[in-house]
Amino acid sequence: MRMLEERIRKDGKIRGNDVLKVDSFLNHQVDPVLIDELAKEFYRLFKDENVDKILTIEASGIAVAVMAAKYFARPLVFAKKSRTVNISGDVYSSKAFSFTHKTENTVLVSKEYINKGERILLIDDFLANGCALRALRDIVIQAGAVPVGAGIVIEKAFQTGGEELRKEGLRIESLARIRSMSEENGIEFC
Ligand code: 5GP
Repeated sequence: MRMLEERIRKDGKIRGNDVLKVDSFLNHQVDPVLIDELAKEFYRLFKDENVDKILTIEASGIAVAVMAAKYFARPLVFAKKSRTVNISGDVYSSKAFSFTHKTENTVLVSKEYINKGERILLIDDFLANGCALRALRDIVIQAGAVPVGAGIVIEKAFQTGGEELRKEGLRIESLARIRSMSEENGIEFC
């Protein structure tokens, strides 16, 4: 998506060659006009999938996912992250190693909010090694629901998550795909 790529080039900050900071429009301060365009694009891509619910993971996926949920006129559920191993209550849980925090999180969703047979669209801000997306897909499968695909704002295609998950049959639509990036040479999109 041209508009997103231009914004990444203008405001994205590369850290250590594999982390892109987009705090000025997505991950800390949020630009609602841009986010609305991203959400509209997710709706265009997945509108024929009969989506029942959108699932994302706290915190940085929530802004774009809630906007997308508005276009689908369906609820958004966000998975919660917990570092405790003692999980109480009726929840689905999965483990995800956090790329940015370098810790393992337990990802939780109350059983109340995903039901058997529901068609679930996964949304997240970044796709790197695929741990977050795998955890979300795992929870959907535990619930007996159907992961219809994943909408990703920025995929770092030089990391392996996207390729692996596509090979496993998950439809992934990324609005910007970064082929390579470095502090010296900047960003190259696919
Ligand atoms: P993965 O689980 O695919 O390795 O990483 C995806 C998750 O880590 C996303 O939910 C996102 O929050 C975070 N993440 C991964 N790479 C980046 C990055 O380059 N920049 C930012 N801001 N977040 C990232």
